[in-house]
Amino acid sequence: MIKETEILLKKHYCISNTILEALENVQRDVEVIFDRIDEIREFNQYKVLNAMQAAKVSDYHFNTSTGYGYSDLGRDTLEDVYAKVFRAEKALVRPQIISGTHALTLALFGVLRPGDELISATGSPYDTLKAVIGNGKKDKSGSLCDWGISYKEAALASDGIPNIDTIINEITHKTKMVLIQRSRGYSWRPSLTLNSIKEIIDNIKTINNDIIVLVDNCYGEFVEEKEPIEVGADIIAGSLIKNPGGGLAPTGGYIAGKKELVDMIANRLTAPGLGDKCGPSLGINHLLYMGLFNSPHIVGEALKTAVFSSRLLNLFGFEVSPEFQEKRGDIIQAVKLNTPENLLAFCRGIQKAAPVDSHVMPEPSPMPGYEDEIIMAGGTFIQGSSIELSVDAPIRPPYIAYFQGGFNWHHGKLGVLIALNELLKLDDEHAGNR
Ligand SMILES: *Cc1c(COP(=O)(O)O)cnc(C)c1O
Repeated sequence: MIKETEILLKKHYCISNTILEALENVQRDVEVIFDRIDEIREFNQYKVLNAMQAAKVSDYHFNTSTGYGYSDLGRDTLEDVYAKVFRAEKALVRPQIISGTHALTLALFGVLRPGDELISATGSPYDTLKAVIGNGKKDKSGSLCDWGISYKEAALASDGIPNIDTIINEITHKTKMVLIQRSRGYSWRPSLTLNSIKEIIDNIKTINNDIIVLVDNCYGEFVEEKEPIEVGADIIAGSLIKNPGGGLAPTGGYIAGKKELVDMIANRLTAPGLGDKCGPSLGINHLLYMGLFNSPHIVGEALKTAVFSSRLLNLFGFEVSPEFQEKRGDIIQAVKLNTPENLLAFCRGIQKAAPVDSHVMPEPSPMPGYEDEIIMAGGTFIQGSSIELSVDAPIRPPYIAYFQGGFNWHHGKLGVLIALNELLKLDDEHAGNR
């Protein structure tokens, strides 16, 4: 760090000397991990580039369509690129898919039929999916349960790792689909690596090869060299305001997988008979191409932010997951903050580092689809974008902050420095009060 930076961090952001003094060690510790991140992203960069070249992407693909969106070559070619990147037979990539939850909902409702059974192999699924499934909910209206689709969960082992025997024991002749969540969600469990996803899928397919495996790929794209379809998943789904949108996609979601399944899902997205043949791209094709092209790089930056933060926060006594040198399956870094005051202070810090709305104070509030109040910080260019530096957390003990993203890791680093500074300030105030 040059002198000018240090002065700026002290004067403008009031970062304490204690933190600044720790930086050199942290930076040295994370160096080899950063090198590994660079190696993976180099590969993923070429993978995406190859797919674009093979699909013969041209500038006329950046044109757009309105209305029905018939014959939108840019959209169709982008879907071809996604299919190639994820080694899928077919993909749907649409601004009409408004989020990850929506993409997963389409995949579930597109494929499952009344009488079918769904099993979650990774314990309780992501918060918003609970309402989609409807299991145990007071208001089941419109959920899978409401449609006569039954649901079971294979609990995770006590260390948060999926238990193959438990999963196998849940499978019955009615089991049509198994859902695997790659990312940790709002939980302390580790994210799944592609190796463990492979192990789960291999075991399921040995029992019954017809069981459809859906992987919730949110936050996992380009973290490893492979993607879930390469290890046997039938369908994957994710959000474009997370990894694969590369920070440029203003909205959207994707689904990729077996052609037959993607066609069923397309019928659910639009209408039976219309399928993937319509859906206007509304002027954002070029952003979706550029975002995908940039995604491996941005994911690398986000991972560097996560690794750096994990090391730094742990040095200052906070329990982190994953630890900095652990293998990662997603871009999320969790830190256990133990009190609501700490959680708010951490969020305040990340918000103060934002390029947008750095002057506002994040507050917990109810969110559609979530049971607990949620606090979200991150002044992002795209509303709710979490490939941009952001933190979100349900207000429940032990007050874990889940943070992710960062277009560039220098920004991510500053965010964490300010957040840690806010935490230490709180400590000082308590000491002063005593
Ligand atoms: C973010 C996320 C979702 C839902 O995505 P939204 O775009 O927020 O609706 C689903 N599953 C996982 C694991 C996620 O991280």
